Amino acid sequence: MNNEKLLSITKRHLQALCLDISDRSVGSEGNRHATDYFKNELLKNNWNIEETLLNVMDWKTNGAILQCGQTSYEVFSSPYSLGCSTQGELVSISTIYELENKEISGKIILLHGEIAKEQIMPKNFVFYNPEKHQRVISILENSEVKAIICATGHNPALAGGVYPFPMLEDGDFNIPSVYMKDAEGEQLNNDREKMVFLESKAERIPETAYNVIGRKSGIAKKRIVITAHIDAKKGTPGAIDNATGVTVLLLLSELLKDFNSKYPIELVAFNGEDYYAVSGQMKYIEQNENGFSDISLNINIDGAGYKIGESSFSLFELPDDIKSIVQKIIKNNPALKEGLPWYQGDHSIFLQYGCPSIAVSSSWFIENIDTQDITHTPKDNLEIVNYERVYEIALAIHEIIDNLNK
Ligand SMILES: [Zn+2]
Repeated sequence: MNNEKLLSITKRHLQALCLDISDRSVGSEGNRHATDYFKNELLKNNWNIEETLLNVMDWKTNGAILQCGQTSYEVFSSPYSLGCSTQGELVSISTIYELENKEISGKIILLHGEIAKEQIMPKNFVFYNPEKHQRVISILENSEVKAIICATGHNPALAGGVYPFPMLEDGDFNIPSVYMKDAEGEQLNNDREKMVFLESKAERIPETAYNVIGRKSGIAKKRIVITAHIDAKKGTPGAIDNATGVTVLLLLSELLKDFNSKYPIELVAFNGEDYYAVSGQMKYIEQNENGFSDISLNINIDGAGYKIGESSFSLFELPDDIKSIVQKIIKNNPALKEGLPWYQGDHSIFLQYGCPSIAVSSSWFIENIDTQDITHTPKDNLEIVNYERVYEIALAIHEIIDNLNK
């Protein structure tokens, strides 16, 4: 297939995923349209499809109001939080020590400063969950506080480029909460009036979503698993995070259509990397409890195709023969670069189960992960995508598979 054709297919997929569908958050209608689109494209290319149902939660809000005396403050409902309409005395908390020792039962609390520096991992998130976070959750759940106000700043590495970031984003945590800018949180903290009224018009909605897996058989026992998450955060078109990754899978479904592979190949559209319950990933793990030892290689694409710089291939635990094949392909391709290790993606799942893995992304993002203000915001749209980068990655992965077959 020539580059012109590849470019036009790349554009078609990215427009379908980012423009025709405006929201790919887990549980949304757009998310189901996206997995349907993925499934139908793979079916056209003769892949065997497995579609796995996930019971998930959609969520919406009509805004939130915080009133303290005559002053109203700008607040936002925490994603997946329950709604509320409540009033009470405000107690400010800036450390875990204060959280443990202040009288907070029946109060509305303001979390600000030190304690609000980072996003608290969802309580049932198993991949990374610092003891400190679990402690904050457990104290709050046993505290009988009426509601929580979080005043936050920037934390791109963990929360993406959003300011303020939602400190709590957890559909399994049942104390209503909102978040606000750190600067305004300090004003509220210094407000002499201590009675506040808080309303959050948020609502949880039971919904469905799907993982879609495309399969191609092969005579070898061990398979190659190529993954990209298809969901996006609410409020972002999710072009780089991660429509480009899904587009690479779609291009591969076409490039590998008539390829006679020794290794069985799986193309997996994961549904949940940017969702508090990571439902699709958890489902895949459950289905593969004893199947990870049959994976010879995982290639995960997330954050690829940024307009600036090369694509980065970070290599994890590759056996020498695979490593030399991949390094040679990287070396011969000016658009690719071997990247530094990073772990905030679905390749981490495969690494936990001892599978060799390649994480494909954009060098620019890996190098600017602590300062970028793009991911999880409206800025992550098609204007920042370099379409050539996207199909070049598909061609490079095709070349890797081709070489592994020799
Ligand atoms: Zn992502």
